[in-house]
Amino acid sequence: MREYQDLLECIVNSTEKQAGDFQKTAELATELLCQQLAVTYVGVCMLSCQEDQISSIANYGPLLPAIYSRPTPSDCPDYITELKNKCLLDVSDVDQDLRVTEIADVYFKPKGIMSSLDVAIRINGHLEGILYLERTFAASWTDSEIHIATHVADQLALTLATHNAYEKDERLTLLLSADEESEQMSMLINLKTDLVEYVNQAHEFISGIPKHQIIGQSFKRLNFFKQNPEQANFVLEKVSMGSVAKGESLIVREDGRQYWLRYSIKQFITERGNHYALVKADDISEEKQYQAKLEHLAWRCGLTGLYNRSYFNKELEHCQSGQLILIDLCGFKRFNDTYGHKSGDALLIEMARRLKHFAHVNKTEQLARVGSDEFAIILPMLNQMDMDYIIARLYSQLILPVIIGREQIQPKPALAIVDIESVGDSFVPLACADIALQYAKKKQTDKVQVFNNALLNSFKEDTQIERDLKTALRGREFELYYQPIKDLKSKKYIGAEALIRWHHPKKGVLYPGAFIHIAEQTGLINAIGAWVLEAACRQLNLWQHHQVNISMHVNVSARQFFSDNLFKQVWNLMSRYRLQPGSLILEITETELMEDIDYATKLCIELSELGVGLAIDDFGTGYSSMRYLKQFPISKLKIDRSFISDLTVSKESREIVSAIIAMASALNISITAEGVETKEQEDFLSEHRCHQAQGFLYSPALRESDFNQFLFKSNPGMVH
Ligand code: C2E
Ligand code: CA
Ligand code: CA
Repeated sequence: MREYQDLLECIVNSTEKQAGDFQKTAELATELLCQQLAVTYVGVCMLSCQEDQISSIANYGPLLPAIYSRPTPSDCPDYITELKNKCLLDVSDVDQDLRVTEIADVYFKPKGIMSSLDVAIRINGHLEGILYLERTFAASWTDSEIHIATHVADQLALTLATHNAYEKDERLTLLLSADEESEQMSMLINLKTDLVEYVNQAHEFISGIPKHQIIGQSFKRLNFFKQNPEQANFVLEKVSMGSVAKGESLIVREDGRQYWLRYSIKQFITERGNHYALVKADDISEEKQYQAKLEHLAWRCGLTGLYNRSYFNKELEHCQSGQLILIDLCGFKRFNDTYGHKSGDALLIEMARRLKHFAHVNKTEQLARVGSDEFAIILPMLNQMDMDYIIARLYSQLILPVIIGREQIQPKPALAIVDIESVGDSFVPLACADIALQYAKKKQTDKVQVFNNALLNSFKEDTQIERDLKTALRGREFELYYQPIKDLKSKKYIGAEALIRWHHPKKGVLYPGAFIHIAEQTGLINAIGAWVLEAACRQLNLWQHHQVNISMHVNVSARQFFSDNLFKQVWNLMSRYRLQPGSLILEITETELMEDIDYATKLCIELSELGVGLAIDDFGTGYSSMRYLKQFPISKLKIDRSFISDLTVSKESREIVSAIIAMASALNISITAEGVETKEQEDFLSEHRCHQAQGFLYSPALRESDFNQFLFKSNPGMVH
């Protein structure tokens, strides 16, 4: 028995065995056995009955091709069962031993084996592999041979067990450290005790809470549960039902920072039957930020940071009550063109800032930039008095001057207010606000307009007029009437103002007050104005042809005046009709002229060089200063009829009129008084040396034939 004691000790004490290296130990064992025992081959192979695999681990003996490998378990079930039961098969003659019949023909015989000693390598009674000793001759196995083989097999089993344990341990450590390294948060909660048993490093990193404050605590103390109790309960319910709970949650850290988690929580049962919840979560704050940024881009105005029109429309759709305020900056386009886009942007940003403040004070977040120079706000329901007060305050804040660059700019806001409830379903609130805004803009002082039904009706009427206007020119529905202008010194009629009339197919004769503003808004004024100029010049040519020596006054609207082709038009007409210099006078109101002083000055100079006079209409109603007057080559001022009608009753008007006359004389500008209706008015004007007068005292505007007769009667000998 002691025969092979050294061999066994050699294996037991080998470094290979100590290190739990199964492969190397098997190699050592096969070599030693083969050398010291009377055998031909010694080998170790591993078995897996489940996967029906056999793999050779070590082999010692004369080199043989790989085809001489042992059959897989399914090819020799009886042999395997025998080995499992007996742990040892000592076959002295493979031909005679029934226990190895299955493998005799396929394995032993081709390999030339006559006797074999197969020992099971077992762990916990489980067959893991075979240690086999083979001889090319038939002979029975001695006790000491069997003994040593069994011991070596046991040692191999031990090594394998250690190896497996090491490997398992290492795999566990590997998994653990991988989880610790992971950016994904993971947590294990014992569902029986409610305690958190494991949490990885990512949790601390994301939540800012050290591990030791979490592990061993009830999961109910987690921020997720404290801050989102409803969501958490829902998660619990789902998990306990065995389903996976997934979701996103915003959590506030102790340092006040916030983060978004996307979690997935699942129940699982350990081998020992314990119930755990496995929590996996990712920090998706960046993703959320990106999403918010995209939303911001889609819903916000890049310049002011306010919501944009799309967003506002969406909000408005859900809005059943409250006041919609639409704010427009009058003259913004011109400001932008004159001062440049940078200044334009600065003005818009300042307006937005004021509106944000207003919205904040009035506790609304529904504030948007809905157009290039338009803003909109929805205010909650208020009573009328509060509303009036709030709007007045808003208006006064918005008109406060803004310093841009070195200039002080006076913003010119116009406000429209719509009671959302009152417009009901029949109209879109923003469209109603647009209508009201048009009226607000026309106001001289406080440009604020509340939307009402009267407004809507007049808007509808205007829309009808707008439609009809489009065909009026083609249908030759316009006609020029002429109002005589009298020279107060010579008592002769020396001029005529052309005033347009519209023979509306349904409404009869329409005065300019009913349609000129619409033509201006729609741009139709350019075509109409061109027609007026042409018709007036043709008439003037006829008069001059008949030696009727009077001047023709033609009203020109701002849009027409500032359109690029007025000069060209006039130039063409002057040359086509060979009009005498000074006989054509264009009238433009002072407010309109001041819209773009530089351009106006240039044009006036060009026109005067062409021999075309320029009269400032409705003088006194605007706020143009005398300072500018010198700048323009103006031939005439027409004192607005409001001053004339007031002459007899208002001292102030008398003073203004006499001051205007004095000033104009000093500047060598001719003066016409408009709207003279009484002899007293005429007397006052004559006394103060007003040059000319026009008004119902002499004649209203007349059709051409009537005008000719009027002239003939009043200036006998003038008309040939
Ligand atoms: P305006 O240039 O101030 O024209 C004078 C207006 O006063 C005319 O009204 C005229 O009929 C009216 N009027 C004249 N004398 C008296 C008077 O003694 N008392 C009163 N109460 N009114 C008097 P109309 O023809 O209705 O024209 C209104 C405005 O329409 C004009 O005001 C002018 O600004 C504009 N307009 C008229 N024709 C044209 C045109 O061809 N082109 C453009 N762009 N505007 C025109
Ligand atoms: Ca006029
Ligand atoms: Ca006038």
